[in-house]
Amino acid sequence: MFNVENIRNDFPILSQKVNGKPLVYFDNGATTQKPKQVIDAIVNHYQTINSNIHRGVHTLSQQSTIAYENARTTVQKHINAANSNEIIFTKGTTDAINLVAHSLGKIWIEEGDEIIISEMEHHSNILPWQILCEEKDAVLKVIPINDAGELNIDVFKKLLGDKTKIVAITHVSNTLGTINPILDIIGLVRKHSSLLRGEAGRGADTVVIIDGAQAIPHMKVDVQELDVDFYCFSGHKVYGPTGIGVLYGKEKWLNKMPPYQTGGGTIKTVAFEKTEYTDAPLKFEAGTPAIEAAIGLASALDYINKIGLETIAVHEQQLLEYATKKISAIPGLKIIGTAKEKAAVLSFSIEDIHPMDIGTILDKLGVAARTGHHCTQPLMECYKIPGTVRASFSFYNTKEEVDIFAAGIEKAIKMLG
Ligand code: PMP
Repeated sequence: MFNVENIRNDFPILSQKVNGKPLVYFDNGATTQKPKQVIDAIVNHYQTINSNIHRGVHTLSQQSTIAYENARTTVQKHINAANSNEIIFTKGTTDAINLVAHSLGKIWIEEGDEIIISEMEHHSNILPWQILCEEKDAVLKVIPINDAGELNIDVFKKLLGDKTKIVAITHVSNTLGTINPILDIIGLVRKHSSLLRGEAGRGADTVVIIDGAQAIPHMKVDVQELDVDFYCFSGHKVYGPTGIGVLYGKEKWLNKMPPYQTGGGTIKTVAFEKTEYTDAPLKFEAGTPAIEAAIGLASALDYINKIGLETIAVHEQQLLEYATKKISAIPGLKIIGTAKEKAAVLSFSIEDIHPMDIGTILDKLGVAARTGHHCTQPLMECYKIPGTVRASFSFYNTKEEVDIFAAGIEKAIKMLG
C-alpha cells in the first residue's frame, strides 16, 4: 500500500525547515531528492569496494566493475533495452544528446539535410542540433505547438520530407508538462521512411532521438515498444545522483558511430600510426566514469520500481489535478500548458507580476518552486512571456503541501499586486 508518510521518511532532506518553515519541495523537474537507499548505496560503495573499473586484476577492481556493469543491466531492464551494450553511461541528458549530435552527426548529416525539433524543446535539445546544422549546412525545422502546448502533428507530417535525417523531440515538456505522443510520432517517421525506401534514389532511415529527462521519473518507458533509435535521461531527475545519465542507442547505430570523446577505456589497441576502437558501450565512455553515481542510479531505479511506476503516476496525477483546480481559482493567474496529457508539472504566470518576485516570496514561506524560462526561451517567446513559476511534483509530495503553495501564491499577489 502506498503511504506517503512512510515514503517521506526515506528522504532525509524533506524533514528540514527552510527560512523557518517546513520545506515544501516542488522543484522536482529541476532535480529530485534522494532516498536513504540511494545515499547508502553511494556511501557503501566508497566504504567497501571503491576502486577503478575494468582492466583491474585485483579484487576490489573486479567487485567495482561488477557493480558498475550490474548498474548497466538494471538500466537496461528498466527501459527494456534488448541488450546491455545499448546502454551508455553519460554525465546526463545534455551530455547524451551532445554525444549523438557530435558522433552520429559526423557520419549521418550532409549539406541540405534536415533535422526536426519542436518549439517546446529544452535548450539541451536545441543547441547541439543548431551547431550541427551550422557546421554541416543542414536545416533545422521546428514543429509548432498550439495554445494548450501540444505539438501540431499535421504540421509535423508536412515537415517530414525526403531530406529529414533526424527527429529530436522531448517526451515530456519540462515547462508545460505536456506528454508528447511519441509512439505515434515514431510510427509516422517509420511509415515515412518505408515510403521513401520504396522510392528510387534514397534508402535511408530517419533517426529518432527522444529527450526523456522529464518522462523517466513519471512513467514506464519501453524502448523496444517505442522502436526509438536513441533515448536519453538524467540520473538526478529520477532520484539518483548528479553526474550520471543514460544514452540508450540501437546497436545498429552505435556500431556505426565514431567515438565522441577518446581516451582510456575506448580502445582495443593504440599505436601511433593507427588506433582500433572497442565496441559500444565502452567506445563511448572515455576516461574513468562516475562509478558510484551509476551504482546510485541503479539503486534509485530499484527504489521507484519497488513503489511501482503506476502507483507513482496515480499519486502524482491526483496532486496535479488538485493543484490545477486550486490555483486556477486564483484571480489573474494563468496556467501555461493545458495539454490533455500532462505529467505532474504546473507552470503559471500572473498578470503584471514577475515570476521571480512570486518565487522569492514562496521561498520565504519554505516553498521551493522554479521561476524563469526553464531553459526553454523559444517556448517563452511563443507565449510572449518572460517566464513562469513552475511547480513540479513527486510521489513524496502531498495535498497539504499544495495548500501551502496555493496560500503562498495568494499572499504573494496581495503583497505585490
Ligand atoms: N531536457 C529536459 C526536458 C530537461 O528538463 C532537462 C533538465 N532541466 C534537460 C534536458 C537537461 O538535463 P541535464 O541538465 O540533467 O543534462
